[in-house]
This record gives sequence, C-alpha cells and structure tokens, in this order.
Amino acid sequence: MKRPRSAAIYARISKDITGEQLGVQRQLQDCRELAREMDWTIGAEYTDNDRSAFNGKIRPQYRLLLEDLRSGLRDGLIIWHADRLHRSPVELEEFIDLCEDRAFAVATVRSGALDLTTASGRTIARIHGAIARGESERMGERMRRSNRQAAEQGRPATRGPRSYGYTRDGMTIVEAEAAVVRVLAERFLAGESIAALTRWLNDSEIPTATGGTVWWSASVRQLLRSARVSGQREYHGEIVAPGTWPTIITPEQTTRIRRTLDAPERKTLRTPSRYLLTGLLRCGRCDRPLISHPKHGVPGYDCRRDVGKGACGKLSIVAEPLDEYVRDLVLTALDGPELAAAMLRRSQPGTDADALAGKILADEDKLTGLAEDYAAGEITREQFKTATAILQKQITANRERLATLDGHGELARYLGQGEQLRDRWHASLSLDQRRAVIRSIVEAVTIHPATVGTSRFDPDRAEIRWRV
Ligand SMILES: [Zn+2]
Repeated sequence: MKRPRSAAIYARISKDITGEQLGVQRQLQDCRELAREMDWTIGAEYTDNDRSAFNGKIRPQYRLLLEDLRSGLRDGLIIWHADRLHRSPVELEEFIDLCEDRAFAVATVRSGALDLTTASGRTIARIHGAIARGESERMGERMRRSNRQAAEQGRPATRGPRSYGYTRDGMTIVEAEAAVVRVLAERFLAGESIAALTRWLNDSEIPTATGGTVWWSASVRQLLRSARVSGQREYHGEIVAPGTWPTIITPEQTTRIRRTLDAPERKTLRTPSRYLLTGLLRCGRCDRPLISHPKHGVPGYDCRRDVGKGACGKLSIVAEPLDEYVRDLVLTALDGPELAAAMLRRSQPGTDADALAGKILADEDKLTGLAEDYAAGEITREQFKTATAILQKQITANRERLATLDGHGELARYLGQGEQLRDRWHASLSLDQRRAVIRSIVEAVTIHPATVGTSRFDPDRAEIRWRV
C-alpha cells in the first residue's frame, strides 16, 4: 500500500479493559512516533473521550474521522491498538466497507499493520474485536443476567435507545416507521444493497429513531437484522423466544434477511442494487422522490404514500424501459456538441477552459461544414476523410485537456466518451459506475402521470433536468 499523503491519528480513552492504563496523551505520543518512523505526514488528530465503552454512545470525532476518510481528505490512519477503533462488530463491518471503497493504509502501534483490503487482514481485525468485546462483556455480566431473564420471558429490552418502529415501552408500533421497515425489508430481499438503501433513507430525509437526519449503513444493517421487528426476542444475536409485542415484518422475512447477510460470499461479492435511477426520480404529481420497488417481481419506481412526507402515492413506472431511455439520452448527449456548448456558457470568459471549449465548438462547426461540402460535391471523399480525421483528433485531445481543468469534474470526465461507455455498459461497468455516468449530467428526472389506457412505455413521461 502506498504512503499516505495526509494521514489521521485516532485516540480514544475507554474503560480499562486490557489492564493497561493508557491515557490519550500516551496513545497520541506513540502514534506520532510511529508516524515519524514510517515517514507519514499527519494531517489531523482525532480524539474521543469515551469512558463507558460499548454503551453505543456516538463518538463525534470517530464519525468525523470516517467522513474524512470517506471523502479522501485523509488517506491513512494510525491507531494505538485495533481495539481503540471499534466498539462493536457492526462498527468494524462499517469500517471494512469503507476500506474496500477507499483502500487506505491502517497502522497500529501495538497490533501491527492492519490490511482490511485482504480476507486475512479482515479476519485478524475481527478476532481483535472479538477479544476486546469478550473482555468487556465479562464486565457487564451481572447486569446482563437480568437482561437475559427478560429476554427469555419474551419481554422487550427497555434499556438503551428506543427501537426504530416502536414506542418507548417497545409494545406499540409507530406506523410511519413501520412502513419504512417494511420497505427496507422488501427491497433488501429484492437484491438492493445496504449502501443503496442507506442512500435512499438519507436522500428522502427520513428521520432516525432519535430524530436525527443521518443514517449509517451499519445502523441500517442492524435494523434489517433485528429480530424485534418480526416480533421475536433475541439475545446476543440469537433468537431465544417469541416476543409479546406486535410484528412489523414476518419471522420468515427475518430468517431470509439474516441468511442473505450471513452468506459467506457476501463480503466479497455484494449483490448490487438493480436500480439505475434511484435517487434521481421525482413524482410529477407531488414532487417527492420515487422509490425503487419491485411489483410482482418486475422492478419499478413508485411514489409511496406510506413513506416520505407528503407523497401522493399515485404514480409508478416500470424500471427497465425508463432506465434504458435515460441511459441512451445521456450517452448520446455526451457525444453531441450541445454539451461542449453548455460548458462554454458555464466557463468564465478569458480562462483556459473557455478557450478550449471555443476550439472544440469551432472544430465541430468545421466538421458540419465538411459534411455539407462533401454532400455538395465540392470536395472528394478522400479529402473529406482526411480532414474529418484531423478534426476529430483535435476535438478529442481538447476534450481531454478540458477534462483535466478544475471546475468541470465528473461531467468532463465522460465528455465525448458516450460510444465507448455504451460498449462497456453491461460488460465492464459496475452499477455504481453506470450511476456516476448518469449523474454526471442528469440533475433529476421528473416522471409525469401515465396517459390512461396505455401500458407501453411513453418517453414523454420523463422530463430530464440537466446539470448544465
Ligand atoms: Zn407522488
């Protein structure tokens, strides 16, 4: 793994679970020392004071650290020991997801380098986590015994935060939240990824159990895994008794969700979301986001009244023809002259980007002129072919140059690439890459109501708002 450009140090005070009293200052010193040895540049230090480890309290600096690693602001991490980083298997799995996405180096003072991008590295991290957790659990043994008793009697656990979907006493369903749980379960079982579902919750601004606005993939996974929502009492992850409270989804659904989550191939071969346009579609009646949703096994997008604020619930569209239609428009637009023209309008006069876009436009004009001349018989086929090849080479080179200039980001990356992208679309682009191509120039798509009496796909229903 290559040397980080701007690494992070993370330190945390926790309950003294390994018998080594170690303050944050000591941890930081040791980590800085290690950074010097490895010749890493430290961009920032993050510290949480968290004396009651394993109580599930939010650690603001840890969250900030994850954000910064995710955004690429930090591209390396030093911690004192692997057990300082994660307090639960759920947190560890979230961190592993992040490592797989962003491939950054992790070094520890006491437990060596941690390579979470390999299977064996992940296994080691999980073992560290399990040991730390085992120690902590022994400490809480006494308190847990009474919990266990409550569990076996099928009473809901009432310690800790309120469970999503239920009132504080755990005995009454909160309808709005229950609807969200049902949609999550359905869509997950239909093959959507935890990441896609998390994005959907955040995009739709659905509040969390504590009224917060940010969902984490780890909490979504936990919610899906939970046996409580299917009316079963679990203890340490195992279902021990039927519950005494109302159910939101069926026990069979929970069984299937758990089987999918626990499948060994899941860690390496995650089922991708099948929906290309999730998060981009809005209802033409009420302007709320449409939700991807299979209907009788056919993927589609729906306006759902039971989820999301103020949704009308009266609109739906079949996914496949819409996905294809939008994809074709995007790929065609990427190769057309209008996009370059739009970029010209957007760029500041007198800049390099302005000059380049101007050249591209002029060359495209010449191409049109050549075709007309050839059609009119004023130049030979040979002349036409030679001149066209020269112009096209210039256009491609200038587009590439334009792409490297700041301020054109994603859009410029794909400009002029439509035809190549079309060839690779299903063969070698991942769903995330396909979505990135679409999102590079599409801001949103409003779906208008269907004309009564037609079941065929009607392209006029889709109104695209372009980014440029
Ligand atoms: Zn609607």
